[in-house]
Amino acid sequence: MGQGWILSGQAGDLTAARDRCITTRDLIRRRTGLAMNLLSHLECSLCHREFEADRLWNLCPTCHKPLLARYDLKKARQTITREEIARREATLWRYRELLPVRDLRYRLCLGEGWTPLIHATRLGEAVGFPTLYIKDEGLNPTGSFKARGLAVALSRARELGVQAVSIPSAGNAAGALSAYASLAGMQAYVFMPRDVPPLFVTECQMLGARVTLVDGLIHDCGQAAAREARKYGRFDLSTLKEPYRLEGKKTMGYELAEQMDWTLPEVIIYPTGGGTGLVGMAKAFDEMEELGWIGPRRPRMVVVQAEGCAPIVQAFHQGGEFAQPWENARTIADGLRVPVAVGDFLILRAVRASRGTAMAVPDAEMIEAARLMGHTQGILPCPEGAATLAAFLHLRRQGWIAEGERVVLFNTGSGLKYTHLYGENR
Ligand SMILES: *Cc1c(COP(=O)(O)O)cnc(C)c1O
Ligand SMILES: [Zn+2]
Repeated sequence: MGQGWILSGQAGDLTAARDRCITTRDLIRRRTGLAMNLLSHLECSLCHREFEADRLWNLCPTCHKPLLARYDLKKARQTITREEIARREATLWRYRELLPVRDLRYRLCLGEGWTPLIHATRLGEAVGFPTLYIKDEGLNPTGSFKARGLAVALSRARELGVQAVSIPSAGNAAGALSAYASLAGMQAYVFMPRDVPPLFVTECQMLGARVTLVDGLIHDCGQAAAREARKYGRFDLSTLKEPYRLEGKKTMGYELAEQMDWTLPEVIIYPTGGGTGLVGMAKAFDEMEELGWIGPRRPRMVVVQAEGCAPIVQAFHQGGEFAQPWENARTIADGLRVPVAVGDFLILRAVRASRGTAMAVPDAEMIEAARLMGHTQGILPCPEGAATLAAFLHLRRQGWIAEGERVVLFNTGSGLKYTHLYGENR
């Protein structure tokens, strides 16, 4: 890895963006004019129609399902090596050939990605399981892994000429979009449920976004955002309704492999709302196998949801290909309060193909698990991240997880945004 990567906090024009997160190698490559990435086309995840990658798309125009970015992996296999990747900057842009931004001048970088994978030995001791790991996404810009998806999607949108962007969000996606839009000099419009904790509203406003509070849940916000996007010509960045947030989130899969010395754990436990991270990691594993970076073995993937909103868990156990909308969704874990996910079938396919499972946990167990992680491991997780520990404890007790298996919990955000849930007076 290169040393001394100081990230410039300067915002605004392309010259500044060009100077962010750049390695000498990048400069040489740019001078010699080598292709910077290998994006070839987009492919519909359901009907498999193909689409040209160098224009803006939301869902597949035929079947209204997510589009997936495809790369020339044969060429990538010949041109990039794991050894070269290992020398690069400590951000998700170390995998740049496998990301959609063609011209690095458009890259927006605040240091997202390359978060620590922590061997949680003290927590492991407390729960009698020494091979427990935490991928701590709380260290990302704006305090959650939403930064990954939005850094990449917004960079690409900017490259394709977008000037105004919108997003429906339970809080974290709105904050991340606001930050990268600010850096890009774009106007952001964010739509959040009226009962979103005030901190998230303030965060977006201080980052220069226009905030609209909507009566209802995330899908009501989605409708409001989409309506205005059509009316005012904004590009809407709803989860999986454009192809590139997934690309940002898939880097968690690349990092996991690289941080485990190009092996993968036996089990991944992931708090699932829209499912971008889980679907993205499964995509990353398939790409890495085609690149010759890993073998065919895959981790069993576990979907964790909240008892008060568990449409994917229900569909998984009922054997459905798609999920039914969840009525009266209620949970303190806002990132899991997603009653309808456009990528439901992609989540279910990924979990089933991995021989994984799905489990719902009650809110009270999330708080308890957050306290346990905080007291033993020095990490204060978000409730969604804590839910993965609660699920782990159940799966271990049930014998679904065996001794010696390496288990990675995804703490998807910092607990610092959730003190309203964790205070002693509760
Ligand atoms: C959005 C969010 C989730 C759910 O992520 P998906 O990849 O959309 O399933 C989990 N945890 C936190 C903290 C979130 O903000
Ligand atoms: Zn289609």
